[in-house]
Amino acid sequence: MIKEKRISGFKVDRCDLCGLCFHLCPVLQQPIEEAKLEIKNLIEGKDSEYVLTTCTTCLSCNLYCPQQANTYQLILERWNDLYKERGALPLSRFVCPTEEHNIWQLLNVFFSNQEKQWIHEWMNYIPKPSDKVLLIGNYTHLFPFIIGGSKLLNYFKPIDRIDQWEGGAYLYQLGYLDVAQKVAEKTKKDFDKWGVDIVVPLLDAVHYLFKEVHPKEMKVSHDQKFINYHDWLIEKIDAGDIKLPNQLNLTVTVHDNCYSKALDGVYWENPREILKKCGCKILEMKHNKKDSLCCGFGVGPSCVGNISMVFNIMSEAKKKYEEAEETGAKALISYCGGCIYLLWASRELLGKKIDVYHIIEIVRMAMGEKINYPQDHVKRAWDIIAIITYQLLLSVFQSNFFIKRITYDKNMSTFHPKKYKILKLIRSLFNISAVRKLYAKMFRILMPIMKTR
Ligand code: SF4
Ligand code: SF4
Repeated sequence: MIKEKRISGFKVDRCDLCGLCFHLCPVLQQPIEEAKLEIKNLIEGKDSEYVLTTCTTCLSCNLYCPQQANTYQLILERWNDLYKERGALPLSRFVCPTEEHNIWQLLNVFFSNQEKQWIHEWMNYIPKPSDKVLLIGNYTHLFPFIIGGSKLLNYFKPIDRIDQWEGGAYLYQLGYLDVAQKVAEKTKKDFDKWGVDIVVPLLDAVHYLFKEVHPKEMKVSHDQKFINYHDWLIEKIDAGDIKLPNQLNLTVTVHDNCYSKALDGVYWENPREILKKCGCKILEMKHNKKDSLCCGFGVGPSCVGNISMVFNIMSEAKKKYEEAEETGAKALISYCGGCIYLLWASRELLGKKIDVYHIIEIVRMAMGEKINYPQDHVKRAWDIIAIITYQLLLSVFQSNFFIKRITYDKNMSTFHPKKYKILKLIRSLFNISAVRKLYAKMFRILMPIMKTR
């Protein structure tokens, strides 16, 4: 049984119920006595007053815990219990590549021919043992223009397998631990079948899952060497292999994603070093590194209402934008491909003006490569907003579900997109500037009424 395969990431024997985790949490900020009760209830599997309905999976509590008990993993386990009981909310189909009407399937309708060509190559190439594999991953698949056509790809074989679910990273974050377990096993089979030795995931989250979570919590040990993409990038820049002649002279603020807090923050400094080497001056947000607030995406697991989930996510993103704006920086930089799609959709809906870049785009500009900024991002943000709107309409007629399949069926309509007339109609309306403005305004009016936190 899968349950026996997993090892609890939470070290219950280390926890002395001090409550510091939820007391220091930047979201909950619980009074210490309430925090003590909350952790006790969570450990005992009793009803949680706040955590399970408010946590944004930001991962900070693991760093606040003086006993290194892994508070975050306890929260995930309790969400896993809830998932087993009630399933996933209908809107979660959005991020399940094996469910009908997922975002990858629907985006096929809007990809440019160039994007389709890149994706086709990345998805269909079967790695050889001598290949150094760059895992494009589910998120960068949504924005192939971030890296497609760049010289940065010349060092690798880019591979895109969306049924590798980013190594299970977001399933793990949602608390769907049994499903993440299956993904860990599947990725091992894939890598072994390819016979490759070196795997470079684009996301820190995926690097962490392969190196730490799979072997330590899921008993899945990979034989491959996993190289962190930012480590690799710094090395290449320092060796002079990647030159950055076009210094950007840009003030930026850095969004530290949830998984960057894993392993005591080993992932924080390299992106900052890379940005400095590109000519960026960094102005830090009030909450950064270990206290960093979530982009909004991590609100999903604590949501109990389907429609309110979108408003809750956006209201969390609003906090991030307010902190970014307070710094006075010209641009907000994300070094996570998951956050970037959320940040762009929220930028458009919240009517924010600060520039938002993925760190790879910054490097490419410093290398002297041309990027089509902001047009590509604005277009993709409205593609995604159209898809979310469409999904919301569909989800009214759907009920909660369980993820039964993790492996992609090539006969599924993901590879053979239907006509999607209503989706296309919604998207074509968003081509009209006045409609976009009106929609965003309506969204902002509804947000305080619809959000539940
Ligand atoms: S993961 Fe973040 S939001 Fe959730 S309880 Fe821990 S510190 Fe708070
Ligand atoms: S998990 Fe850590 S911080 Fe939280 S109550 Fe236990 S020992 Fe204290």
